[in-house]
Amino acid sequence: MSSVHVIGAGLAGLAAACQLTDAGRHVVLHDSAKAAGGRARSYFDKAMGCRIDNGNHLLLSGNTAALVYLRRIGARHSLAGPSEPIFPFVDLPSGNHWTLRLNQTGFPWWVFSAKRRVPGTRFYDYRALLKLREAGPDDLVASVLGNIGPLYRNLIEPLAISALNTMPDIASAAPLRVVLAETIERGGAASLPRFAKIGLSESFVDPALEWLRNKGTTIKFGRRVTEIDPNQPTILAVPPWVAASMVPGLVVPDKFEAICNLHFKYSLDPGEAGFWGLIGGMAEWVFARPNILSVTISAANRYLAIDNDTIAAKVWAELAGAFGLKPKMPQCRVVWEKRATFMSTPEQLARRPQTRTKSSNLVLAGDWTDTGLPATIEGAIRSGNAAASVLLQTQES
Ligand SMILES: Cc1cc2nc3c(=O)[nH]c(=O)nc-3n(C[C@H](O)[C@H](O)[C@H](O)COP(=O)(O)OP(=O)(O)OC[C@H]3O[C@@H](n4cnc5c(N)ncnc54)[C@H](O)[C@@H]3O)c2cc1C
Repeated sequence: MSSVHVIGAGLAGLAAACQLTDAGRHVVLHDSAKAAGGRARSYFDKAMGCRIDNGNHLLLSGNTAALVYLRRIGARHSLAGPSEPIFPFVDLPSGNHWTLRLNQTGFPWWVFSAKRRVPGTRFYDYRALLKLREAGPDDLVASVLGNIGPLYRNLIEPLAISALNTMPDIASAAPLRVVLAETIERGGAASLPRFAKIGLSESFVDPALEWLRNKGTTIKFGRRVTEIDPNQPTILAVPPWVAASMVPGLVVPDKFEAICNLHFKYSLDPGEAGFWGLIGGMAEWVFARPNILSVTISAANRYLAIDNDTIAAKVWAELAGAFGLKPKMPQCRVVWEKRATFMSTPEQLARRPQTRTKSSNLVLAGDWTDTGLPATIEGAIRSGNAAASVLLQTQES
């Protein structure tokens, strides 16, 4: 049986390669970069003198494909996170700290407790979330939920911006509905926040490469693939613009949103959860890593015109105010991913292609294919699994 070529060793390509290998196929894994991981990777930053992730990545325990992938590659215990489904927040303008405390069981008892739910909300406010279930592909997050007061400002808006990487006034409600249905609606056990204990590569990438190498995968990194051999079974797991350049007539998402991450050399007590959501400022999520305080700003096209020093000074001032830190900013690295994900607008979602192509030898993978999920680790891994399954089926028939 001929080898399967997997082009792109981001999480979609790695997941596909693992699934194919498990099914007994020999895989040749290609990536143009010298290292795997794509948009979810760790690297040594010379100026900071330590390893950092390109950006903070948060998962939830309802991200089942991601957890199965980690188990397969022997990295199930490489994630950290609180034992309870809690989400600490800081309201930056008021300095108020509060924590959303879901309960572990399926029924959302937490909405009946003022100490557990979002401050300023009443339990019946949460019924408005049911409106999401009726949202069609063209409905926008802000038009479906924007009028529900503090629940929107303090929870739905930050959740939507981070999950969809798109501002809620232009973001489709449909992928947010899927995320909530697979996590918060299933209860606290599916909503435990999870992040890489050491780094993204240590969790998602290096163990996968070792697993694949041990099973005989041929790995070819540092060389850009520009053509697909129509006679070789291939999974194309590259970014959408690269896929479009290789597959004539392929329609793909073509508008993108940036994510900006700021890594400050600073040690902060990680508190109950290891991270906080920040509301009402520029900084949106902050993760207290060993010796690094890492901040994420999603849907960051709106800040592209601002220089890094100004962003860093503003974000540090916000952190200093929120956590009582000294005003003098420590060493900082600002990392922009300008095409972090496609824009989750109805128009862009309609451009997501299916896994199958016209050729039975070529299938597509990537967080931008039509997974129904936003562009996330879970979506990327599911797309890789789906691509491997489709290729195996078409090869057998
Ligand atoms: C800063 C940031 C923060 C994020 N935060 C989160 C989060 O909190 N939670 C979450 O779930 N998701 C998050 N995401 C999204 C997540 O990282 C992506 O959905 C996922 O990594 C996409 O994986 P992929 O394999 O589809 O694509 P990619 O990672 O883009 O992989 C594509 C691969 O193809 C390779 N390639 C490109 N061209 C060629 C070529 N010609 N030949 C060979 N190889 C090629 C690239 O080098 C790359 O390795 C975040 C993304 C970013 C950038």
